[in-house]
Amino acid sequence: MDREQCNMDLVIIGGGVTGAGVFREAVRNGLRVLLVEKKDFSWGTSSRSSKLIHGGLRYLKEAQFKLTLESVRERERLLTQAAGLVSPIDFIMPLYSDGGPGRAAMAAGLTVYDILAKKFRHRYLSNKKLKKKVPGINTEGLTGGYLFMDAQVDDARLVQRLICEGVRQGGRAMNYTEATRIVRDDMGAVCGVEVVDVESKDSLFVSTTAVVNATGVWAETLHPSPEAGLHLRPLRGSHLVFPKAKLPVSQAISFFHPDDQRPLFVIPWQGVVLLGTTDLDYDGDVNREPWITESEVDYLLSAVEKVIPHAGLKREDAITSFAGVRPVLSEGGKEASQESREHAVWVDNGLVTVTGGKLTTFRRLAWDTLRSVGPFIRSEPLVGEDDALFCEVMPDVPSGVPEILFERLWGRYGSGALEILETIQGTDDLACIGSTPYLWAELGYAATLEQVRHLDDLLLRRLRLGMVLEKGGLDLMERIRDEVQGPLGWSDARWEAEVSAYETLWLGCYSPYPQGLVA
Ligand SMILES: Cc1cc2nc3c(=O)[nH]c(=O)nc-3n(C[C@H](O)[C@H](O)[C@H](O)COP(=O)(O)OP(=O)(O)OC[C@H]3O[C@@H](n4cnc5c(N)ncnc54)[C@H](O)[C@@H]3O)c2cc1C
Repeated sequence: MDREQCNMDLVIIGGGVTGAGVFREAVRNGLRVLLVEKKDFSWGTSSRSSKLIHGGLRYLKEAQFKLTLESVRERERLLTQAAGLVSPIDFIMPLYSDGGPGRAAMAAGLTVYDILAKKFRHRYLSNKKLKKKVPGINTEGLTGGYLFMDAQVDDARLVQRLICEGVRQGGRAMNYTEATRIVRDDMGAVCGVEVVDVESKDSLFVSTTAVVNATGVWAETLHPSPEAGLHLRPLRGSHLVFPKAKLPVSQAISFFHPDDQRPLFVIPWQGVVLLGTTDLDYDGDVNREPWITESEVDYLLSAVEKVIPHAGLKREDAITSFAGVRPVLSEGGKEASQESREHAVWVDNGLVTVTGGKLTTFRRLAWDTLRSVGPFIRSEPLVGEDDALFCEVMPDVPSGVPEILFERLWGRYGSGALEILETIQGTDDLACIGSTPYLWAELGYAATLEQVRHLDDLLLRRLRLGMVLEKGGLDLMERIRDEVQGPLGWSDARWEAEVSAYETLWLGCYSPYPQGLVA
């Protein structure tokens, strides 16, 4: 970083979806913006979600109409403005006589859901139709069900796309860079931030009058809550991942756990099927990778056993798992899954903290933050709240490229899609990696241009191989090496060390039998 770049209009701390959303919108306003992330972009919660862009039916049940309305609106916006990255997904919700909501309650909830979206899409399914749509469904006590629509995303790619667009338009984003201190002048106003490269330990003072603290579950480390009794309550949520052959569903299924009536999902995603999620107080170290525990595995499997018993799903059928920690704001006294997913913005003399919220509403979080941060930067307000999410407009599909592939690449990489296609030499490069939808050519692109420092950045977050491939892709390591060792500029010794570290991480936190990492 040179001298000039040390003077910024705005520094954003945290490279999850919240920080990335603020970054994208601030750069669009012509500001000089620096984003720092102490691990990798989306390393925190934003790569470990259920990958849904959803209104959240359960919030309706809890009468959180504002949150549902905002979420539904954002879903509709993202479906049109981030095609290829955010896609519609059908949900089926079977209803049972011995638990969960009845038909009238579901009909009412889904009608409100559709009214909010101004699109009437839900419909009732008889037992006969349900049996056809969900082969193997438990019919004991089944009283029909509903079909409705939501949307899904690749969460880490959403973060990456926002950051890449911001960088292409002049913003600066640094991963593995921690904000260690917010510096204030004699009047208490923010005047800078000290940042440190966590590996080289090189440090830098960045002068600025405005700082956004978008650090999710870490937010109170930089700025304790000013609201009496309102604090972050870290809640772990975990998923098991199955191959489609073991759980052959073509739409998502939403159902209620027989023990506590919590809503769970089975969701087809990127060639695999996710089963999640749990919602438990997390007292582990948030700086370390979380992992699914034995009791969470049992909890998830017992629920799916109730709804789709004929799938005979067992733990050994799972190929991977992952866990994340939700930044949930709590006033205490509630069950974990009853806690609100609203966000909070705290303003303190140039430091604006934003935390809580959902992936779905990241743009709302970004604009609520920017409205508060604007006065510390310049007198005229920041603009563009209703502009298209991404500035880059998808061009015509290049000849010879299947439209669906181009839309997917554009959704994930923006104009980088054209660079990926340029590198394709033959049909081999157009081939997908194993059973995944990812092209081999995407690996080389990400390794070259997407600030990959370690192998897990590439295999868990730029592409999601570690989540969707058996053994996290370890069996494909020789071919992966051919594609990326050169672009990464790593020696053989470095490559071996990275593979070994990745294997340890995957076995410890992403395998179906994780035990965590030894300190
Ligand atoms: C299991 C689970 C399922 C979920 N499913 C959904 C879903 O389907 N749909 C939905 O809408 N939402 C979902 N969510 C919620 C959603 O994922 C989160 O609300 C969102 O990702 C939070 O993003 P964030 O940017 O605020 O936090 P994070 O993604 O955690 O980002 C904060 C970042 O700040 C960095 N950081 C911390 N301190 C510093 C520092 N001092 N300097 C620099 N960097 C720092 C961290 O390393 C981290 O990467 C889910 C959450 C979980 C856990």
